[in-house]
Amino acid sequence: LVSFVGVLVIACPCALGLATPTAIIVGVGKGAREGILIKDAATLEKLHKVDIVMLDKTGTVTYGKPKLINVSNLDNDQISILATLENKSEHPIAHAVLNYSKEKNLPLKTFSEFESIKGKGIKGIVNGVEYFAGSIRLIEDLKLSFDTTELNQFTLEGKTPVALMTKEKVLGFVAIADSIKEESKKAVADLHKLGIRTVMLTGDNKNTANYIAKEVGIDEVMAEILPEDKLVKIKEFQSQGKVVAMTGDGVNDAPALAQADVGIAMGTGTDVAIESAGITLLGGDISKLVKAIKLSKITMRGIKQNLFWAFFYNIVGIPLAAGAFYPFFGWLLSPVFAGMAMALSSVSVVSNSLRIRSMKL
Ligand code: ADP
Ligand code: MG
Repeated sequence: LVSFVGVLVIACPCALGLATPTAIIVGVGKGAREGILIKDAATLEKLHKVDIVMLDKTGTVTYGKPKLINVSNLDNDQISILATLENKSEHPIAHAVLNYSKEKNLPLKTFSEFESIKGKGIKGIVNGVEYFAGSIRLIEDLKLSFDTTELNQFTLEGKTPVALMTKEKVLGFVAIADSIKEESKKAVADLHKLGIRTVMLTGDNKNTANYIAKEVGIDEVMAEILPEDKLVKIKEFQSQGKVVAMTGDGVNDAPALAQADVGIAMGTGTDVAIESAGITLLGGDISKLVKAIKLSKITMRGIKQNLFWAFFYNIVGIPLAAGAFYPFFGWLLSPVFAGMAMALSSVSVVSNSLRIRSMKL
């Protein structure tokens, strides 16, 4: 009877049940203190397996607070027209144009029929004339002849040109510059140290994208792509068996954030992006991404150690309590000691989980 009670007591799988959740709870809590908000346990578990990190450009690698730095061939009235169109857009470019026109005290005009041209720009009617504003690709789409040498010069310096045009001709353009986040370069280097490949995704110009990717050290660039292509690229990598993390901030990143194995939103980003992602980095600090991956590794290691301890007490304790060693050594575990061992296994598991709190990321 003694050994029967002992077996019952020690075989109680409390520690086993505690092994995973305690480590996850401590891990998620530690993340929160570091400004890494983790939505669910599965996200934390998947993060340590990531092979590829996809990075959105604007607002993720860069601050996403661009400034209008140059005006070419546009008079104040035309800037007003451009600002009038941009006033209807949510794109960071629009904010840059509007900030500029406000500084210059240029009035907005009345317009009609605003429409955004996905991945390329916007259009609308002002004073009965249809205007377009957007990228070099939009100029090409409208089949307008225009010497793009000067435009290209800006792209080679990492700036984004926005041309204002009618159906007939390009009127002029402005150049928009966004600065690279201070932490981007180190974050990318740290990802590489962890053996993770980095890919930048953007709807922006190839030259502009390449310039920024090179500054930051990103492995690969996919530029001039439509929002839905971000999702397609992720699916492609996933079908090759890769575990893909996607970082982004914009409305158009949301589908990709949801598709990725781990979606990571910038806390400075749009609500839709944050909703679609499993992790949010407060302050949009992408160096926290590296910390999040390390946290995931530490937590997973914690779970494995916990499982070891939980099994260890059971594997040694059950035969001992059952009297398996009694005939040879005269060993028997009394229910009192079995109870202590069981409690001790839970204590080991919980205290091992708590160690995660104090580990350095
Ligand atoms: P991203 O978020 O990577 O910039 P988008 O698809 O939103 O991708 O935009 C792609 C490109 O389309 C921009 O780089 C810009 O050239 C052009 N574009 C988009 N929205 C606007 C806008 N409101 N005004 C001017 N150009 C725009
Ligand atoms: Mg963005």
